[in-house]
Amino acid sequence: MKSDFVLRSRGWRALVAGIWCCSAFALSAQQAAAPPAGGTQPATTTPAGQRGGGRGAQEQGRVEGPNGEVWGFTNLGEIPGTPWRIHDDKRPHPPVVAPPATPGGPPADAIVLFDGKDLSKWVHRVKDTVTEAQWVVHDGIFESGKGTSLSTRESFGDVQLHVEFATPTKVEGTSQGRGNSGVRFMDRYEIQVLDSYDNRTYADGMAAAIYGDTPPLVNVARKPGEWQTYDIVFEAPRFKGPQLISPAYVTVIWNGVLVHNRRLVNGPTSPLTVHQYIAHDPELPLVIQNHGNPVRFRNVWVRRLKGYDQESR
Ligand code: MG
Repeated sequence: MKSDFVLRSRGWRALVAGIWCCSAFALSAQQAAAPPAGGTQPATTTPAGQRGGGRGAQEQGRVEGPNGEVWGFTNLGEIPGTPWRIHDDKRPHPPVVAPPATPGGPPADAIVLFDGKDLSKWVHRVKDTVTEAQWVVHDGIFESGKGTSLSTRESFGDVQLHVEFATPTKVEGTSQGRGNSGVRFMDRYEIQVLDSYDNRTYADGMAAAIYGDTPPLVNVARKPGEWQTYDIVFEAPRFKGPQLISPAYVTVIWNGVLVHNRRLVNGPTSPLTVHQYIAHDPELPLVIQNHGNPVRFRNVWVRRLKGYDQESR
């Protein structure tokens, strides 16, 4: 009985010690990752110790701010595939971006493509002819159904896109004829917009499908007339001359649910050119498809994507 108690108390001591170590390490990491707290005084560095050593070596390679706060280290292990060491004080800090005022809204570095007022960021393009956007705007939304597809004035490559849409409240049509539109990246790679609530069509043509390519992982369609969201990360294909170097990839979150997880896009999604990459510009307009159905849209914004470690503090 006594030995059982001793074992239990040793176990608890080990557990508490473990939690303390984890907390201390997490705190250290948090401090190391924190951005400089203002001030222009240079950091000080303790004499470099033996790289990758234990706690003593870590303390020797510590870089401190003007008030002795931890800014990083110079002597910890290397992070594979990067030029940085763990907690490297020289590693660039990411740019500060003000978050959206409300969930789903545009963050400060977004390009707002529709803020509820007008379609000034959009045009119609038919071959080389560009005309002003004709789609109807009212009550903070715009609506497909008039003219040709909408095309952004600006061109984009790798982007994060947020768009909200609602298919018609009054259910009419079947299959592809019910609430059909689409978000076509680079005017080639379409994520389908469709009323997919109790509306059977071919799986790779339902809402959130990479059209003619890959159905979404699940169907999280809201009822007709209800507002839905797409949050999409699109990685543009890369070409070297006529040669495809890297295909497009797409991640789609539909109504808050992941439905494509960096899924490879097999090529343009038009039935005429499907699955055949043809070299094109690194940036091209984003298109919202007009399929003759009155689909409503609101709160559309996009962010150009940049790589890691590109901003210096
Ligand atoms: Mg479509």
